[in-house]
Amino acid sequence: MFIAQQSLNQEKLESSTVVPNIKPANHALYSQYPQQVMMENLWALQSTLDIEKLLSIYASEINQHINIDGIAFKNDQTQKHWGQTEQYQCSFKLVIDGNFLGTLKYSRKIAFTDSESKDLESRLCVLVYPLRNAIDYFNAMQLAYTDALTGIKNRTAMNESLDREVSLAQRQLGSLTMMILDIDFFKNINDTYGHQAGDKALKMVANCIQNTVRNSDIVFRYGGEEFVILLSNSSSNGGKLLAERIRSSIETIQCQHQNETFSMTISIGTTEFKPHDTKDTLAQRADKALYQAKESGRNQVIHL
Ligand code: GH3
Ligand code: MG
Ligand code: MG
Repeated sequence: MFIAQQSLNQEKLESSTVVPNIKPANHALYSQYPQQVMMENLWALQSTLDIEKLLSIYASEINQHINIDGIAFKNDQTQKHWGQTEQYQCSFKLVIDGNFLGTLKYSRKIAFTDSESKDLESRLCVLVYPLRNAIDYFNAMQLAYTDALTGIKNRTAMNESLDREVSLAQRQLGSLTMMILDIDFFKNINDTYGHQAGDKALKMVANCIQNTVRNSDIVFRYGGEEFVILLSNSSSNGGKLLAERIRSSIETIQCQHQNETFSMTISIGTTEFKPHDTKDTLAQRADKALYQAKESGRNQVIHL
């Protein structure tokens, strides 16, 4: 069962409509659709699991009947949109089988009439199930790309991002800096304070890195106690300063476990993309820089 709870222009009208499960021929709302048009829309909407593409296909269908400038979809996990957000909005809370899917907001420069908002509501029928599939897919992908312990992106996600960033850098569409970070003598922390303390330290380090970088920098847990950061469009000096800031922040962490408190340090290797680099040569140079940081006594940044 799908429920759309509507609010118009952000202030008034809280109504809800219950639409029975997808049985097009039996439902009054579907009778507004010529059968052939509806089938085409359903096929088009089922052709993608990408939420943004779905909104775009849906928007072109809606625009054949009612002019809209933008559609925004939002739930706790994600926020996607098509077009522009304008002054007047008509939003629907979408619920399927008791599960809240998210809020869908149409917007445009002129106010929506009551009959338009009813029409927009009825047209949600064709969107909600493909949208639920796309959201399920999005959530599954998020899970596949997330490290369970720290909640940051994992190695699989890093491989994909690195492919994308290196290909952009090869086409000279921006600069790229890669950093590899490794906690110093982490085995000692496990041996001295136990594995749980080690896990707690890893979470604190991941948090600290995440809180130190810019929104555009991407942080990954690459392996056990190793992290990678990809910085796009950052100057060489910017990369070095950031690495140094992370190194000194990690040093100040006081990790408490049971009745004990301990601190730790981190070594960092950084490098920038150079002409003719591949993702392997870039990663090898960052790794070499890290190795040199370890060899030179740890708790330092080496840039190659
Ligand atoms: P170095 O300064 O040379 O990097 O020394 P290290 O002790 O940090 O390096 P080493 O590679 O010898 O040890 C890494 C340790 O990280 C060993 C492994 O048990 C631990 N480790 C890997 N993953 C996890 C994890 O998820 N949780 C905990 N608690 N420990 C982990
Ligand atoms: Mg290591
Ligand atoms: Mg280590």
